[in-house]
Amino acid sequence: MNLVLMGPPGAGKGTQGELLAKKLGIDTISTGVMLRTAIKERTEIGKLAEQYINDGKLVPDDVIVSIVKERLAKPDCEKGFILDGFPRTTAQAEALTESGVKIDKVLSLEVEDEVIVERLSSRRECSKCGAPYNVVSNKPETEGICDKCGGELIQRADDNPSTIRNRLNVYHTETEPIKKYYEKLGLLVTAKGEEELADTTRNVDKALGLEV
Ligand code: AMP
Repeated sequence: MNLVLMGPPGAGKGTQGELLAKKLGIDTISTGVMLRTAIKERTEIGKLAEQYINDGKLVPDDVIVSIVKERLAKPDCEKGFILDGFPRTTAQAEALTESGVKIDKVLSLEVEDEVIVERLSSRRECSKCGAPYNVVSNKPETEGICDKCGGELIQRADDNPSTIRNRLNVYHTETEPIKKYYEKLGLLVTAKGEEELADTTRNVDKALGLEV
């Protein structure tokens, strides 16, 4: 399955992406994780992306499209993939379609803005592997430590109230219109993402027809 996960920041794309990746035996490709890794490694792309990310703005389309195309050309993507955080603009969605990569489904996780602001303040991320956690709803087994790789859990620099507002604005103005684009292509499914983790997971599985 070639899947796109959509939704506002903090909707649970990372968490649901990980669960789906395990279930389907495919990898999640998160442009946010790729960019944060590039920033940590001080690459040219990282240096360019840092200010955009810290301001809650989108990194330019041409930069993102080229890193995603490069990643999707890797052999492991032949068995399927989950795109988390891409496409985020109509231009990115069109570039993906034009690249000839077939998308089977686009899942939009639906969460209201008020829930997002609250949720993002308790969100944590592994500083080593990028795995997502939440100190209220998705705790690690040992406080502050990643279950998967033992890395230290940190709060993202862009998870602060003013950047969160910017990111939500950007989502509504630039990313949400893509839902119409994929609806027209007959690929869009939606799932409510406001409930407890297990309920959201059930909603996601149902929307994708993965129920047992
Ligand atoms: P995320 O981890 O998906 O919330 O992404 C964090 C930040 O990385 C976003 O707020 C953007 O600044 C940048 N970013 C991630 N994916 C994209 C994309 N597809 N297009 C533009 N900017 C992106």
